[in-house]
Order: sequence, then C-alpha cells, then structure tokens
Amino acid sequence: MVQTKKHIPLAVNGGIGFGAKLKPKQLAALGKYLDDDTEIELTTLQQLIVQIPEDELEEAKKEFEKADLHYYKVGKYVKNLRTCNFCKGEEEEGMPVAKELNRRIAGQEVPFTLRPAYTGCPIGCGEPLINDIGVMKDKDTYELYIGGISKGREAKPGHLVQAGLQPEELYQMVDRILEIYRENGKKREKFHRFVERYGMEQIMEGLQAA
Ligand code: SF4
Repeated sequence: MVQTKKHIPLAVNGGIGFGAKLKPKQLAALGKYLDDDTEIELTTLQQLIVQIPEDELEEAKKEFEKADLHYYKVGKYVKNLRTCNFCKGEEEEGMPVAKELNRRIAGQEVPFTLRPAYTGCPIGCGEPLINDIGVMKDKDTYELYIGGISKGREAKPGHLVQAGLQPEELYQMVDRILEIYRENGKKREKFHRFVERYGMEQIMEGLQAA
C-alpha cells in the first residue's frame, strides 16, 4: 500500500508593507518545501496557500522566518490583515498600527474564518467597509467597522462601531469584538451573520461593559 505523506496547509506572505511583494530569496525558501508539480494557491487576501509535509513543518517555519516570510494557520482563524499599499508613506498611513493590529489578531481562533482589512486613508483601497472587520485611518485617528459583506447579492458595507479611536483603543475594541464573537457565535456562523443575528446593540453593550 502506498503511504501518502500528510501535508499541513499554511497561508504565507511577505508581511505588511508597501504592496504585496515577495523577494527571490523568499520564493526560494518556499520552493524548498514544495514538490515540483505542487499547486500554490494565490488568494485575494494577499496570501499564498502552500501544503507543507507535516514532518518538515517546524523546519519550514524556521526557514520562512529567516527569509522574512510570514505564515498563518488556515481554517477557522482570523486571517492576516488585508491592507492598502500605503502610498502616502509608512507613518502617515499608520503602517505600524496595521502591523501591531495584525500581530495581535491574526491566527486567533473564531467560529468561522474572519477577514480583517485596513486602509491608510478614506480613499479606502484596502476595502475596509466590505470586510468582516475594517479599519480606516482618517487624519490622526482610526474608524472601526464590522459586518461588511463583499460577495454576492447581499454585498453591503459594515456598521460603524466607532470613529476617532487612538491605536490602543482600536486594539482593545477589536480584541473585545473577537471575544464577543467567540462567546456568542454559533459553530461555523459567519461573522456578518453573527453581527446581524446577535445585533449591533448587544455588541455595543458588550463593548461598553468591557
Ligand atoms: S487607501 Fe489611501 S494610503 Fe492607502 S493606498 Fe489608497 S490612497 Fe494610498
């Protein structure tokens, strides 16, 4: 009987920066763990989905870190933050805040895969209003939206949770929203469905009680 190796999917990208870019050394690091005819999926979330042999997973992760590749779990987790290209500059568009928010939330377990998005100014290239959680920088503060839908006939913008947030307030509010979702969401309930069923009123009460 032919024994097939177990593979573990990882979502990989070059981290948050000026656009979604990869360097040759990063592609070489990826190639080391993939068979010649392996298919690599490129997602709309600026990620490559690769299948790594389970017995090489830990070694591959170390190699990816050395090459400055970022990797995330695939499944019912918060995805990496989708961002705009920060065309007006790192500080002005809040790249450090986007990186910190991503560090805090990406990979958190939730009832269903959750897509967060960030955009550095109100032009909104990162499409924050039509993602599960959306952050928009406006001058020196941040706006937080939840429950947007990007696909199908039910596509619609999310609800504004709060404007005028400072970075620390933003991090805490997003964290608390994820907690409310974990505590009250049904198994495999999509985030936007949860927002509609559970209701903005209760979510806002939960935020105030924190
Ligand atoms: S959202 Fe603003 S800062 Fe970001 S790429 Fe678009 S125009 Fe540039």
